[in-house]
Amino acid sequence: MKYKRILLKLSGESLMGEKQYGIDSDRVIQYARDIKAVFDQGIEVAIVIGGGNIFRGLSAEKSGMDRVQADYMGMLATVINSMALQDALEKLSVKTRLMTAIKMEQICEPFIRRRAVRHLEKRRIVIFGAGTGNPYFTTDTCASLRAIEIQADVVLKGTRVDGIYTADPEKHPDAVRYDEITFQEVYDKGLNVMDMTAFTLCQENKLPIIVFDMNKPGNFMKIASGEAIGTLVK
Ligand code: UDP
Repeated sequence: MKYKRILLKLSGESLMGEKQYGIDSDRVIQYARDIKAVFDQGIEVAIVIGGGNIFRGLSAEKSGMDRVQADYMGMLATVINSMALQDALEKLSVKTRLMTAIKMEQICEPFIRRRAVRHLEKRRIVIFGAGTGNPYFTTDTCASLRAIEIQADVVLKGTRVDGIYTADPEKHPDAVRYDEITFQEVYDKGLNVMDMTAFTLCQENKLPIIVFDMNKPGNFMKIASGEAIGTLVK
């Protein structure tokens, strides 16, 4: 296996499967199986999930809500998703801990970096919920931040496209996928990998990002074992 400790970022929308809203349980089970397979190879796995399938602060602001209030609602949405994935993983007998940036003592632990690292060392999958705990941030930024804090080797961004393309492959069929690209090239070409805060954090801390298609069963294992099936940003 190529990595010892990885941070997997999943968007909230990816949990919808074919649905328009909410959580598709088949998709969550598929992700849990893929994650367990990688974890069973001895890799330490930490996970951040978005909340876009349930609530997005920015969209709610556009419909007239106070942004800060809406962002807190978005953070709560990530906790719902995290709990769904935690449940699916535990059904597969994987030990997990959910740690959140907003305290919710009845359902999870507060995020404490040293404790998170300890859980990983003790062979538990750690899910980081409630984003960074701050409005105006995203779960991508949470993923970069937590990855740096726990000294992960890489951020694996699981999406529905299999990497970074010269243009949006869903709109431009002739777009070409990069196997590898530098942080600087991403800036220069104006490509969209993560939001700028998240991206800059990775660049400044020399933390590589791999964008890959998480929806194809088995892909996560290929990525974790070093196969070049996505786009590596370094
Ligand atoms: N959010 C936030 N601070 C954070 C992380 C998330 O305020 O540190 C809120 C924000 O409103 C965001 C929502 O939670 O729209 C869901 O997260 P995100 O949009 O990153 O989810 P994804 O796009 O990955 O599904």
